[in-house]
Amino acid sequence: MTGRAALSRIDPDRIITGGPELDAAAAVWNGAVTHRPALVVRCETTEDVRSAIRAARECGLPLSVRGGGHDWAGRAVRPGGLVIDLTRMRQVSVHDGVATVAGGATSGDVAVAADRHGLTAATGTVSSVGMIGLTLGGGYGPLNGRFGLAADNLLSAEVVLADGRVVRADPELLWALRGGGGNFGVVTSAEIALHPVSEVLAGSFTFPWEQAGQVLHGYGELLDRAPDALTSMISLICTPDGSPMIVVAPTWSGSLAEGRAALGEFAGLGTPLTAAVSAKSPLDKLREFDGAFPAGDRYAIRTRNVPDLKPDVVSALIEAYAARGASAAFINIHHFHGASTRTAIESSAFGIRREHFMVELIELGSPDSDPLAVAWPQQAGATLAPHALPGGYPNLLGPDDQEQAAAAYGPNTARLRAVKARVDPDGVFTATPLPAAG
Ligand SMILES: Cc1cc2nc3c(=O)[nH]c(=O)nc-3n(C[C@H](O)[C@H](O)[C@H](O)COP(=O)(O)OP(=O)(O)OC[C@H]3O[C@@H](n4cnc5c(N)ncnc54)[C@H](O)[C@@H]3O)c2cc1C
Repeated sequence: MTGRAALSRIDPDRIITGGPELDAAAAVWNGAVTHRPALVVRCETTEDVRSAIRAARECGLPLSVRGGGHDWAGRAVRPGGLVIDLTRMRQVSVHDGVATVAGGATSGDVAVAADRHGLTAATGTVSSVGMIGLTLGGGYGPLNGRFGLAADNLLSAEVVLADGRVVRADPELLWALRGGGGNFGVVTSAEIALHPVSEVLAGSFTFPWEQAGQVLHGYGELLDRAPDALTSMISLICTPDGSPMIVVAPTWSGSLAEGRAALGEFAGLGTPLTAAVSAKSPLDKLREFDGAFPAGDRYAIRTRNVPDLKPDVVSALIEAYAARGASAAFINIHHFHGASTRTAIESSAFGIRREHFMVELIELGSPDSDPLAVAWPQQAGATLAPHALPGGYPNLLGPDDQEQAAAAYGPNTARLRAVKARVDPDGVFTATPLPAAG
């Protein structure tokens, strides 16, 4: 079948090839992503996905997959390529504690469906992020201490491979999909384990910048003894007038009575400017930070993993943040602990299982800045590098972060390459940086 013949199998209304409609269909979360594809195929069925893959290959077009569109570097779109757009495949159904999730469902779609059954999923921190994109790269979130990463909750997947075959992932492919990124095919449907949590205790404490060192250090000590039910994020942020401050955002997913005492301890880290903690559904918790990073603004992001928040790491974080210059910049620090660390490193592709803090370095660029050239996240990464663990979070590594990518999968690299060679020998899927063999 030729590329044109493959495309003729798709309803023409689902194929967008130019004009403002293509601009709109190619837009992703990061407004700094301006590269444009040749066409976007708004797939509605697994058969559409097969035809789109065949068409791209027959026509020699670069291929990309768009789920929630939140990859900061815009890898859901390749210049001059064909985009397999899954945003019309967002169905989620729940049976016996398992969600069956279509390839383009957002984390919010899954949380809404789970909530109707008094259940929750291990998602990230923002509802508009694609559930499958999040899961394939790992998926840090407020329940990782209790239920592991999003990737640890992936039970099965239907995948369209580069040669157009539709397969149920065999154990080795499923192993690769749990943390190996979007490098192996298009996941059209996946089963995800849900958990019986209908209420969590969550909120935030803000502290003045002058107390940054004391708060970060005390926070690290407090989390040294955090039970699985307590997973927290700490952020270095600027208010709209440019003043820096510290925000601590803990989530407690155990008994609420115990949680009130545990979360109360965060107030003692310094002199809180504000303190607000309340019981809410995991769905409301997921929506809490939805407005924090609006779609369409221009972002650049880098990542480093640090082993702890000992004084030298805290000093490096404060030094890195102080060097942000006039731009708006944020550091979000996710705690990886508990259940996430008790999964054996060889049981999934995710490359790090020791306790650590995943640091996101985010800069909000000016209207004409190139996200790959924005300097602060890279500088901040270099400041943290002497204190960092090898690698970084694959979902946030940039296309030019090859050195970090080389270490990101730890001892799983060779096995991951072997799966890649088996299911995608021609390198059709190129999303997340995957180290070269060797
Ligand atoms: C505002 C914001 C908040 C975030 N919060 C968190 C967080 O709390 N925790 C965390 O771990 N990460 C977080 N991330 C990072 C996020 O997990 C990754 O950017 C992820 O890749 C986004 O997936 P997506 O589907 O939304 O993005 P897309 O850009 O659509 O997809 C990214 C890549 O994932 C692959 N992909 C997506 N869907 C499929 C599919 N069905 N089949 C095959 N491949 C697919 C594709 O290769 C694609 O290139 C956040 C990102 C943003 C922008």
